[in-house]
Amino acid sequence: MREVDLRSDTVTRPTDSMRRAMAAAEVGDDVMREDPTVRRLEEMAAARLDKPAALFVPSGTMANLASLLTHCPRGAEVILGDQAHIFYYEQGGAAALGGIHPRPLPNRPDGTLDPADIEAAVRPQDVHFPRTRLIALENTHNRCNGAPLSPDYLRQVGALKDRLGLRLHVDGARIFNAAAALGVSPAELAAPADSVTFCLSKGLGAPAGSLICGSRDFVEEARRMRKVLGGGMRQVGVLAAAGIVALTEMVPRLAEDHARAGQLAAGLEGLPGIRVVPAALRTNIVYLDIAPEGPPAAELAAALAARGVKMLAASPRRLRAVTHHHISAADIDHTVAALDRLQRAPH
Ligand SMILES: *Cc1c(COP(=O)(O)O)cnc(C)c1O
Repeated sequence: MREVDLRSDTVTRPTDSMRRAMAAAEVGDDVMREDPTVRRLEEMAAARLDKPAALFVPSGTMANLASLLTHCPRGAEVILGDQAHIFYYEQGGAAALGGIHPRPLPNRPDGTLDPADIEAAVRPQDVHFPRTRLIALENTHNRCNGAPLSPDYLRQVGALKDRLGLRLHVDGARIFNAAAALGVSPAELAAPADSVTFCLSKGLGAPAGSLICGSRDFVEEARRMRKVLGGGMRQVGVLAAAGIVALTEMVPRLAEDHARAGQLAAGLEGLPGIRVVPAALRTNIVYLDIAPEGPPAAELAAALAARGVKMLAASPRRLRAVTHHHISAADIDHTVAALDRLQRAPH
């Protein structure tokens, strides 16, 4: 039976090219800054986002946490979306480990926060209040339909944080997807931010790793935070080597994943019992809402899995499908046919 795993782009396995690069990687102790492959990856990441420096960390969660810890002293407040990965999926680590107070604002369906809401949420100087320090945005926005945030919007929030004396962090786990969908450079998306993180292990297919990009001083301090969080790694050039291949060989092909996601959305359009959440600009994430009379998402996901197609139950009535480099046009056809058969004859 054909296996089509659309649960996440994190299920991607390293390519043969990555495995060759990993086997051949020159390495050293990276805590002593002696791993030449890590240094090369960090320089490459900084250049791609046009920031002065970058830091390799084990995961996207640690990248966000180390960034927030670097921006915010204990008791400071971060303004972020109520659907943000940092708020939703990271165990509240910034609060639990950093004493950072979250101020969630409603995400609009396109993944943005209303700038007027941001401004209204900033705390005045008052002994009762925490001090607002940081705004955090997400690009692309995972829970908001994989929506890419535009350069115009990011510049608007950038100007706002400058006027208000705040800082801006962008969780850019999929920032290269955003750039590909918008037809702009990742550097343009990163420009208004003081710090940007991105993942090598999502659609870019590397086995592990994320980067934190920012000013030299910021990245120096983030390096301390990485160490206290237990993220100082030694001969980790074996992973960085895969990351270099991810940046050079996988970034240019992301538009294919977006095309496959578009093919999936179009194929499922009009199927009985489900509604494709429409996207103004599709990246690699497709959400499907199940009609009220239909089964719970977990049940539909299980029935699909029995037919070789895996999706994620993102909420009780919503499935998520994510395309990536293992998903072909034929896999999408198979997926549409499987869901079509299920919806017409559930048993
Ligand atoms: C996956 C993801 C992360 C965290 O990455 P991990 O490597 O799973 O820790 C952070 N932000 C967003 C938007 C993500 O999709």
